[in-house]
Amino acid sequence: MIRLHDTRARKKVELQPREPGKVSLYVCGVTVYDLCHVGHARTAVAFDVIVRHLRARGFDVRFVRNITDVDDKIIRKGLAEGRPAAEVARFYADAMAADMEGLGVAPADIEPRATLHIPDMIDVIRRLEERGLAYAAGGDVYYSVAGFPNYGGLSGQSPDELQAGARIEVGEHKKSPLDFALWKAAKPGEPSWESPWGPGRPGWHIECSAMSHRYLGDAFDIHGGGSDLIFPHHENEIAQSEGAFGAFARYWMHSGMLNFGGEKMSKSLGNVVTIRRAAETHDLESLRLLLISVHYRSPAAFSIARDDAGQPVYPDLDEAEERLDYFYRTLERLDAFVGTLASPPTPPPSDLATRFVEAMDDDFNTAAGIGHLYDAFVLANKLLDDAKAAPKAERQSTLTALARDARMVGATLGIMRRPPAEFLNSRRARLCVRRKIDPQSVESSIAERAAARAAKQFQRADDIRAGLKARGVELMDGPKGTTWRVV
Ligand SMILES: [Zn+2]
Repeated sequence: MIRLHDTRARKKVELQPREPGKVSLYVCGVTVYDLCHVGHARTAVAFDVIVRHLRARGFDVRFVRNITDVDDKIIRKGLAEGRPAAEVARFYADAMAADMEGLGVAPADIEPRATLHIPDMIDVIRRLEERGLAYAAGGDVYYSVAGFPNYGGLSGQSPDELQAGARIEVGEHKKSPLDFALWKAAKPGEPSWESPWGPGRPGWHIECSAMSHRYLGDAFDIHGGGSDLIFPHHENEIAQSEGAFGAFARYWMHSGMLNFGGEKMSKSLGNVVTIRRAAETHDLESLRLLLISVHYRSPAAFSIARDDAGQPVYPDLDEAEERLDYFYRTLERLDAFVGTLASPPTPPPSDLATRFVEAMDDDFNTAAGIGHLYDAFVLANKLLDDAKAAPKAERQSTLTALARDARMVGATLGIMRRPPAEFLNSRRARLCVRRKIDPQSVESSIAERAAARAAKQFQRADDIRAGLKARGVELMDGPKGTTWRVV
């Protein structure tokens, strides 16, 4: 049984899909007017993990994540750069796809773009008009919130409370401050489409009602997005979809925000941490680990500081990368151990497997799940370090189970999916550049030390090791020779 926190119910509820064994899910995607930053990464990774876990638990998931490619910001960017809005949107949609791939976020089953669904939107608006929930005014079309008594139910606000905070902007033709635009009359220099109300373009919210209906039908299971979308976007989606089709999402899930400690992230400070910027200095898998190390609904921290040269540095990301390094090192040791067994046992699921699935079944608690992984790896290292820590058969069986089950955990979380050496070598190369360590000179020192040991010059060998240590290079002697890492 999977429990999830439903925003509208304000509590955890049991997931009971409309069709047993199948889950339909719609998540609001990105408005493509700029490069994605780490805040976008958080929402994308959160729902990627949710989908991975549902699939791992045997659900047949149909996952739709839209791309908003017509919007005020895209139009403004196009005007500023002197190119068509459609070109701006295409460019940043492609950039987003590449960034998401880097983060290990799988593409959704369907990634509909707003501009390819204008007729669907017009259809929803016509239905709303027929039901008295929409009215045309000055070439625009507005939703009449007074006609939808449940308005505010998702965000837990009454229409009166909401009314107090709303106002009519200059140039709007709406009758009441809470009403919102479904269709906007064409303005010079803006993209527009023909419609029964004259040329124009869709309002911000209508695309999700139209595209979720097109791909998931009148009603579906889960609607998700970042918690900043609860009001007004999702409230308006509900008013539109329930108003037009009488039903909509059964459950609402929202991921928490990313808080920036230290410096505030802003365009004017020039310190916006795009996914690309993070990838220049870090492995994006460590960004992913940072983001899932807290529960998806809780606020997560991403701190920005400056190094001596005034360059931005990311202490939380450094820490996450170190944890990932520990995970991969442990995995590498586990693999090496299993590789030495003539006939590896086939143990039952480990405690790690059981506890991880329990944590994830309880509202996708990745924080607890990663805690279990960490505990299991502490145990693994203890067993690997000390052949007498447990009876031989038990030790072999536990370590074999952990090597296998850690990969099951990694598959759901979207981490530890590379051969450990690949991650460890690339991280070491990056750290060498950052700390100005020449790998060639490390290798020759290691050769020198091996020669000294062969000649029984142990003091000399120890001095070489200590010299490397002082430069941040740690040597590990193993059956296959000496390896090294940057610490
Ligand atoms: Zn949406």
